[in-house]
Amino acid sequence: MKLKYRIFSLFIDRKKKRECHHVLMQFNSYYQGLHLNKKGIFVLRTLYFQRFTRFSTEVGYSVSPEMKHLISSAFVQITFGIGQDDLEYFNKIHITPKAYSYRNSTQLFHGDVNPMTKTVNLTWPVVKKGFEINDDGMNLAIHEFAHCIILENARRNYLVRNLNEEELKGWKSYSLKLLEKIRKGDNGLYRDYAGSNLMELFATSLEYFFEKPSELFSYDPEHYKRLCRLLKQDPRNSKDPTNLTIRE
Ligand SMILES: [Zn+2]
Repeated sequence: MKLKYRIFSLFIDRKKKRECHHVLMQFNSYYQGLHLNKKGIFVLRTLYFQRFTRFSTEVGYSVSPEMKHLISSAFVQITFGIGQDDLEYFNKIHITPKAYSYRNSTQLFHGDVNPMTKTVNLTWPVVKKGFEINDDGMNLAIHEFAHCIILENARRNYLVRNLNEEELKGWKSYSLKLLEKIRKGDNGLYRDYAGSNLMELFATSLEYFFEKPSELFSYDPEHYKRLCRLLKQDPRNSKDPTNLTIRE
């Protein structure tokens, strides 16, 4: 375990760790599948992410520990294999009780990443459902954090990027073909929305990567293996996903 987590752990009381563990055991299937010694670091990273993130909500609605733990766990899940502990730019999370729209627009959203306000907006009942139904390839928090990872990576100096430059480039060029295939309707897995552009394909792919890893692998093994190399993990190895011995 990294020294900074050991030090951080000293300042977190047991009750908080237990509370986080219980929420994740109840709702996060990725966490449930982890080996016991990986669960400890996952909880610490979930609490570490919360420490450096500002959560807010609307008047009359409150942010519960369950919301914080579960939302943060989606970020930790995606970054479990790479050394990114928190979001530097999108470090504000606004939780809404129901779908919302922006001023002068009637379009309703359940979630979005807003570069103007540097905020990730999430509708709580949809976030929760994303975890409760863990095998339908739909998880709002995973989807929005996938956008954040790509956007933040692009903002960083290339020397301190969290995603390997070559792997990301490789994923993009390979995925252009996949995008075409989805747009033609020639696909038995992805929902149409994934064909919007590369950003949406990446975010949707991560939802499948974590909720339907075997189906995603069967659909396009090369694409799946590229995601494994990019995120340095393979969710098919549920006990120890970051032990990356990519299976054929
Ligand atoms: Zn999206």
